[in-house]
Amino acid sequence: MTTPLRSYVAGRWYTAPDAAAGTVVSDAVTGDPVAVVSSTGLDMGAVLDHATGVGGPALRELTFPQRAALLKALAGYLKERRPEYYALSHRTGATLFDSRFDVDGGIGVLSAYAGIGARELPDDTVLPVDEPHLLGRGGGFVGRHLAVSRPGVAVQINAYNFPVWGMLEKLGPALLAGVPSIVKPATPTAFLTELVVRDVIESGLLPEGALQLVCGSVGDLLDRLGPQDSVAFTGSAATGRRLRGNATVLGEAVRFTVEADSLNCSILGPDAVPGTPEFDLYVAQLVTEMTVKAGQKCTAIRRALVPAGLVAAVVDAVAARLDQVVVGNPTSEGVTMGALAGLAQREHVRTAVRTLAVGARTVIGDPDKVDPVDADPTRGAFLAPVLLVADDPERPEPHHVEAFGPVSTVIGYGSVEGAIAAAARGRGSLASSVVTADPQVARQVVRGLGPWHGRVLVLDRDSAPESTGHGSPMPTLLHGGPGRAGGGAELGGLESVRHHMQTVAVQGSPSVLDAVSR
Ligand code: NAP
Repeated sequence: MTTPLRSYVAGRWYTAPDAAAGTVVSDAVTGDPVAVVSSTGLDMGAVLDHATGVGGPALRELTFPQRAALLKALAGYLKERRPEYYALSHRTGATLFDSRFDVDGGIGVLSAYAGIGARELPDDTVLPVDEPHLLGRGGGFVGRHLAVSRPGVAVQINAYNFPVWGMLEKLGPALLAGVPSIVKPATPTAFLTELVVRDVIESGLLPEGALQLVCGSVGDLLDRLGPQDSVAFTGSAATGRRLRGNATVLGEAVRFTVEADSLNCSILGPDAVPGTPEFDLYVAQLVTEMTVKAGQKCTAIRRALVPAGLVAAVVDAVAARLDQVVVGNPTSEGVTMGALAGLAQREHVRTAVRTLAVGARTVIGDPDKVDPVDADPTRGAFLAPVLLVADDPERPEPHHVEAFGPVSTVIGYGSVEGAIAAAARGRGSLASSVVTADPQVARQVVRGLGPWHGRVLVLDRDSAPESTGHGSPMPTLLHGGPGRAGGGAELGGLESVRHHMQTVAVQGSPSVLDAVSR
């Protein structure tokens, strides 16, 4: 029998009575069943009570540095166990490189929040946000803002592409803020999240109730939330819209953040012609974004905006690099790109490519043909990288359709203004980049892209050696984008900790404010 995935709720591991009839999750590489997922019978009221009655009070007793110390210890504990995570991560289709992105990346975020807590937060449970403002002429009446922990829960609904990072990047700020988390992983890769949560619980480092895990449906959890609770959702824009519209979420003004799909773009500067380091950087970055995690990154480059006269040169250079990409079993020697998370996900990508192809021609790859190393293409979710060219830049498809896989569309532009306007047609994205050695181009593009993007990377020969790349969100920087990208803001250092707290304006005499602030 396939192993039923368990949930960790109210201090114990829970297996649904109908586990055998749950959703079967298959190995992305072999198609063999890995786990069966069901949450039938889980009492979401008890889950919430445990979080608010047990986990929250225990966390809020700790000062910020004490919570930071927990995060540091947890990061160290998980780091020791990475080989186990990599091994299971292969079953999600990930290569070792991809797994490090997910696993080490997630642990790195925990460490980063441990550092923020230790360095930037007071030895207290309350966070003064600003210095006192004088409110009276004589100096006897002042006001300042304090951030206090909310006595609610942080519900974290994650997408399937980063089963470890996705959880840890949300967990870190919530723990530091003193708020207990209820994690709901996406079903296709929940088995990896469950393994990590098992270790977190076994470590005994977190106070009981600080972390609960629901594998499978969250049932009526959202209908039970209240004004002190928050939901952080990562996934498709369609699901995000639906959940954000939940009557209780709206009625109780539950803080609801959405990190949704996004048609990220990368602009090649007009100066970055073939033969310049910037041209090579652009092409290398595009291929990296297409192939890391088999393109299943919310920040991956979906639209490559290049000067119209350079479209052919870019396609040739990308083709030369993609020739080196070896698709196949991620544990096999020489394989550089693994599988998508499952056959259903591959079918979604194939459908999206067919829609993109209505307004563009496919110049590299065939979404229906793949010859993976050491794997059966009918059982494993493999897909060869696909590059399209939109000859008519006015076509809507590349700006509307997200193919969540190793797929990108090259679009020619006539002027920098035109490139900025094309970028905005994505209706809001998480990440963008401009590759140029011309500071004036960088200035114009950054100012033009700013309103529509959560992050803009300016890449040139000087920053390249240390650049973290187009697709990597950083713990200290904003991760989130306007419009289609969901309008959310995850990460971003202290801001994301404060997201879980209530900021209150306190007024009184300077001595009283001094006393309540410390
Ligand atoms: P999805 O189908 O929208 O699912 C996202 C999450 O929502 C999953 O955990 C899913 O659980 C859960 N969910 C679905 N219906 C729900 C409901 N009624 N109540 C509560 N939870 C519900 O997205 P996905 O296919 O997992 O992820 C791929 C998408 O995520 C892509 O479009 C990608 O662009 C986006 N993404 C965005 C970011 C970002 O930071 N912006 C990061 C990664 C991925 P089940 O799996 O159990 O249905």
